[in-house]
Amino acid sequence: MNSSATSVYEDTAEIREEICEVGRRMYARNLVAATDGNISVRLRDGKFLGTPSAVSKGFMAPGDLIVCDADGNKVSGSGKVTSEIFTHLAAYEERPDVNAVVHAHPPNAVACTLAGVSLAEPLLPELIGALGGIPTADYAMPGSREGSEVIRDLIRECDAVLLDRHGSVTVGLTLRDALHRVEKLEHAAETIIVAYSLGKPVRLPEEEIEKLYRFGADYGATGKHYRRK
Ligand SMILES: [Zn+2]
Repeated sequence: MNSSATSVYEDTAEIREEICEVGRRMYARNLVAATDGNISVRLRDGKFLGTPSAVSKGFMAPGDLIVCDADGNKVSGSGKVTSEIFTHLAAYEERPDVNAVVHAHPPNAVACTLAGVSLAEPLLPELIGALGGIPTADYAMPGSREGSEVIRDLIRECDAVLLDRHGSVTVGLTLRDALHRVEKLEHAAETIIVAYSLGKPVRLPEEEIEKLYRFGADYGATGKHYRRK
C-alpha cells in the first residue's frame, strides 16, 4: 500500500518552521512540559519528519528535526529518534488519510484518565460535532512498543485518543488540524472537570447526539468521529 500518496508535505524550510511553531504553541499552552511530547508529519516520499528525543518543544530550531523511515530508523538529523516514534508510525499505518501526528501531555485530559472520567461521554455538543468523542486507550508504559499497539483500534476510528495516565494522540490531514484537536481535547477536559466540581454533568439526549452527527456530515466535517458504543 502506498500510504504516502495523500501526503501534502515535503521536507521544506516552511514545514520545519511550522513544526517548531506548533511546538512553541504546545509548550506555551501547557500541553507539554520540559522535553515532553512529539510532533511528526508524513512526507510525500513515505518518510517522516519529526521532533527529536530530549529537546523541549518550546525551544526547537528547524535544524533539530529528524527524518526517519517507516520502521523508525533515522535517515537524517543529528539528534536521536524519539522512543514514541512507534506510536506515530502506528497512527500513520492505521490512517493512510492523515499526514500529521501530535503527541502531548495535556494535564486536565490526563487527570481525567487518572480519575476514570471518560471524554467519550457525550456532554459537549461542540466536541461531539468535531470529534464524536475521545476514547481512552489502555495503559501502556510510555515509549514502549506496547504503547503503539494499544492505540491502533481506536485511532482507526477517530482523530483524538487519550493514553491512560500519559497523554494524547491527535491526527490530522494537516499539522494545524492535529494541533487544533489537542487544543480542543484539553479545553473540553478543563470544562468537564469544572462541571464535575459543581455537580454531576448530564449527557445529551440521544436525538441531540444524532442531530450533531448529521450536522457534521452536512457541513463536510473531515476526519473520523468516535461513536460511543
Ligand atoms: Zn509521552
